[in-house]
Amino acid sequence: MAKNLDISIPQNIVPLDSILPDEPLLMMGAGPVPIPARVAAANGIVINHLGDTMSQIIEQVKSMSRYVFQTRNGTILGVAGPGSAAMEMAVANIVVPQSKVLNICNGFFSHRLHELSKRIGAETIKLEVSGPESASPQQVEDYIATHQPAVVTIVQGETSNTVCNHSLPEIAAIAKRHGCFLIVDAVCTLSTMPLNMDEWGVDAVITGGQKGLSCIPGISLIGFSEQAWQHIQNRRDSLRHWCYDAKLADQFWNQGSYHYTAPVSGILAIHEALRLVCNETLPLRFERHKRCSVALQQGIESMGLTLHVAAQSRLNSVVGINVPSDIDAKRLLADMSQRYRVEISGSFGPNIVRIGQMGEQCRAHHLFRTLHALGSSLQCLKADVDIPAGMAALEAVLSQQG
Ligand SMILES: *Cc1c(COP(=O)(O)O)cnc(C)c1O
Repeated sequence: MAKNLDISIPQNIVPLDSILPDEPLLMMGAGPVPIPARVAAANGIVINHLGDTMSQIIEQVKSMSRYVFQTRNGTILGVAGPGSAAMEMAVANIVVPQSKVLNICNGFFSHRLHELSKRIGAETIKLEVSGPESASPQQVEDYIATHQPAVVTIVQGETSNTVCNHSLPEIAAIAKRHGCFLIVDAVCTLSTMPLNMDEWGVDAVITGGQKGLSCIPGISLIGFSEQAWQHIQNRRDSLRHWCYDAKLADQFWNQGSYHYTAPVSGILAIHEALRLVCNETLPLRFERHKRCSVALQQGIESMGLTLHVAAQSRLNSVVGINVPSDIDAKRLLADMSQRYRVEISGSFGPNIVRIGQMGEQCRAHHLFRTLHALGSSLQCLKADVDIPAGMAALEAVLSQQG
């Protein structure tokens, strides 16, 4: 008989079934988003992380990623970790300590890129966009001319406050003209709206699994331009991050050898997510996202609510709705979740609630259910909303021929 263990088995553990809701909630928030059945099935498989089967899968992940990122010769790497890990990896490999970085900030995630740059030991300059608004190319050019940074960071779609940097192509051209590397966070937006990495001249594109790609959280991808990859190869200093060192990750992603045990299930899942994007094709996928999001926006406004961001700066991939002044956002979310099994997001800052329009969220049946749940829950809390008018507007836009 072994001696009694000091720490005993916990007594209050219940099976997952008794914690999870009977019926899964419809995930219509700012991520994670619902995943297709094929992605879920792939995520349940474990295979050897090295060897021929894995090599073949990795080659396919890379070639499908090149399509989704729109890069011919860019280097694609995956990372076991959240979108933030991909952000950290992009910054750690491109930013040399003590060099200057311009962080264009118009929301929570762009500030995270600023924080990551500071931690790398860069001399950071922050361009705080007043707003909620898109960054202006002129202002970016002024900052670049004044500070001459080596690297510029920007978020294409700010999930946090639903602002879109629509001028990204112009900003990329400006960065290029001044010889800066440009890092773009496209966690929210990749495959939901155009991002042409090569054509625009973006040096690092960051994405995560659980948003635009409609995959699982915890597996992420990065694309580096040829110039960025050259810069990484030429660096002689050793990175402070071992897991996120692109030269080490290259061993697994391009040399078929070992870095760390790859997140095989996550890679299989993202393979399926990418394959579904390729099957759908980017133009049709962009069209679906736009049509669904615009229909939802019209539905919301026709119900009598207002959107947080003006049309010219508005993101389609996540829709931010101003919470009426006499309504408690937390109660609204709880009510939608309990009565309608629909989950949407609150926010870290402004008094808004957010409905995601990423990947599987952009389906007509999900939109009707979500908009109705929103209107009905608001009505229950005594807000003045016109539910039939909202539903009619949603229907009218969705049924227009595309
Ligand atoms: C969600 C998100 C991130 C962070 O992704 P995590 O997987 O939560 O780390 C970064 N940028 C944007 C734009 C996001 O929407």
